[in-house]
Amino acid sequence: MNITDLKTTLNSNDVGHEMCQLIAELYPICRSITGNGFRETLSIIKRHIPLKVHEVPSGTKVFDWTVPKEWNIKDAYVKNSRGERIIDFRNSNLHVVSYSVPVTAKASLAELKEHLFTLPERPHWIPYRTSYYSENWGFCLSHKKFLELRDEEYEVCIDSSLENGHLTYGEFYLEGKSKDEVLLSCHACHPSLCNDNLSGVALAAFLAKHLSPLSLRYSYRFIFIPGTIGSITWLCSNESQVHKIKHGLVVVCVGDPGQSTYKKSRRGDAEIDRAVTHVLQHSGQDYEIEDFFPYGYDERQYCSPGFNLPVGCLMRTPHGRYPEYHTSADNLDFVRPEYLADSFSKYLAVLNVLENNKKYLNTNPKCEPQLGKRGLYTAIGGQTGGKVNQLAMLWVLNLSDGQNTLLDIADRSGLPFDVIKRVADMLLEHDLLQECRETAKV
Ligand SMILES: [Zn+2]
Repeated sequence: MNITDLKTTLNSNDVGHEMCQLIAELYPICRSITGNGFRETLSIIKRHIPLKVHEVPSGTKVFDWTVPKEWNIKDAYVKNSRGERIIDFRNSNLHVVSYSVPVTAKASLAELKEHLFTLPERPHWIPYRTSYYSENWGFCLSHKKFLELRDEEYEVCIDSSLENGHLTYGEFYLEGKSKDEVLLSCHACHPSLCNDNLSGVALAAFLAKHLSPLSLRYSYRFIFIPGTIGSITWLCSNESQVHKIKHGLVVVCVGDPGQSTYKKSRRGDAEIDRAVTHVLQHSGQDYEIEDFFPYGYDERQYCSPGFNLPVGCLMRTPHGRYPEYHTSADNLDFVRPEYLADSFSKYLAVLNVLENNKKYLNTNPKCEPQLGKRGLYTAIGGQTGGKVNQLAMLWVLNLSDGQNTLLDIADRSGLPFDVIKRVADMLLEHDLLQECRETAKV
């Protein structure tokens, strides 16, 4: 079975629901860029795919960066003078600024306020804040609750640890016929946040799971890393191997109701850019295509000038452009199975283009071959879209001069890749086409 067979047989709605279940399972875990929450997340993903877990020691130099100390947290709270937990980590892990150093202190309201973060414009939501690279501590809470704080003495406790340990990441390599690779990268370092973080994790995990039994042209590498420091660490550890990456996508924000958005690779005209553009153009839905810009997710590192890998980012609503982003409202209600399923289908369609985007030679290039006598007009005449197939066949025959890939032909003809691929298979069966060797220069 290949990816085209999978695409036609798999019920993406079922996958959407399975992705939701995985997201719900991972949601309560307090993740950060290092620590046991990240490890626990990988161990749950391991139930679906045999991830290899890597541990990189704190203090390891990775290009201009250093792997930070490992952060873990057991509990955190702010108690009022009556001993009531008015901010409680047990209710939401977003209440604690990620990487907060351990604290046990008494504080006045004024002292406490210096360490509190709220969103006045969204008074019911808890913001998500981090302090990875400067040692500090803090609490996040709804602005509504903040306004209720009285002038009294508070007891502050953050039972965390920040010590030499490891940065953990997960990797799953799927060997295809070629050593050339497709990279799928997602960050898994955010705590209880669904669209930014867990939707990408779930999509990558289920894509890996469903690709595993297939016969594949490319090898696939899935990495589950902490944002920024994870991709920097991975690139630093794998620098001699990255030339194998021929295509890549950063998987993130794939479960919200917004339209699909594709951020191109820095190259802008890489095959992955063209493949995603084609799939979105033929999706029958609204979409957005954006040029590369050096801000966002791990594509910033993959597309840094020293690597310049063909890695884009296929998402729905980009980070920062939905109000729920980095707040407690990016929760289990915000990501929906139907949007996850739609994103999954689009990823599969893109990979289907990459897997099948080959060049062919017309074996009968002097004038058109007589299709009728080979039964090719009748073979397709009865099918719905017979006219489209006939036209597609003429396009494939005309442009299969060893220079054009099937995606080139699909784009030039304005026809969907799947139609072009289907008629190419038919012409191959009738010996009117032959595949160009991947390395052949025609
Ligand atoms: Zn984020």
